[in-house]
Amino acid sequence: MKKVLAVLLAGSMAAALAACGSTKSTDSAAQSSAANTIATEAAGASTEADGAATEAAAAATEAAAQTDLSGSKYLSDGVMTVALNSTFPPFEYLGDGSDDFSAITSNPTQATGFDVALVNEIGTRLGVKVEIEDMDFDGIIAAIGTKADVAATGMTINDERKKSVNFSDPYYDATQAVLLTKDSSIATEDDLKKASSIGVQQGTTGENIARGINDAATVSVKSFNQAVADLMNGKNDAVIVDQSTGEAFLSQNPDKLKLLPGSQFKFDTEQYGIAMPKDDEVMLGAINGALEAMKADGTYDSLVEKYINNYEAQ
Ligand code: GLN
Repeated sequence: MKKVLAVLLAGSMAAALAACGSTKSTDSAAQSSAANTIATEAAGASTEADGAATEAAAAATEAAAQTDLSGSKYLSDGVMTVALNSTFPPFEYLGDGSDDFSAITSNPTQATGFDVALVNEIGTRLGVKVEIEDMDFDGIIAAIGTKADVAATGMTINDERKKSVNFSDPYYDATQAVLLTKDSSIATEDDLKKASSIGVQQGTTGENIARGINDAATVSVKSFNQAVADLMNGKNDAVIVDQSTGEAFLSQNPDKLKLLPGSQFKFDTEQYGIAMPKDDEVMLGAINGALEAMKADGTYDSLVEKYINNYEAQ
């Protein structure tokens, strides 16, 4: 593809140069030979570029081949089972398996989003097949090492969870935010203390925060979709949810909802990591290695751009 473009470009430069040289035949001959040189150089550059790309691809394949997973308790079978909860856009939500956002409502059965793309890329780099297990968020920690090898579900790294699982290096900075109906007067932590119903997804850091502020009013449900539906129908006064996911819900209902940043409520910052069993250091090293390589070669940034920055409401 690149080569064809370069040759076409060189050809059009040659034609343009030849066209200006119509007055003197010597000039014209000189220009046409100059044009040929440009064409040859361009073709040379394109071959070099192709060479570099081939080398990079070869290096990546080699790196994958060098990741020896034979000592990994969970990945040596060549399959990485990934637990997630698909009510967490833009990190995971149900789609039709394509990257076409508009197609998602037509057959929403397959998990898609940033985390899915991230683990698929890690799987490719490590040479393992990725299988997704969609489940309730509050069951995910217990599923790691039994029903699933890892979890990639916008999971915040914290000390409580670290007692049960290992986390990869952090891959995304986050903070909790407060989702409200547009007409709500809630604006401070004090207001949340007076609220009668704060919706959260069970087992999340948002639930911990809500319980810390107003335990009696905290209503924890199985999915964010449910908590947000209860906000829209007036059952909840507020929902505490991760900022990016709050933005995704907001973009689905911009006329009815508003989102206030966690800084307004003095919420701490958080970081997401891939969770995995404690008894597999080989897997930890392999996943961190793949994450690091994706950050270094721009793949990570392109996934952020595609799935988070350009998320389109369904
Ligand atoms: N980041 C939050 C947590 O780890 C929410 C994650 C989620 O609901 N998928 O608890």
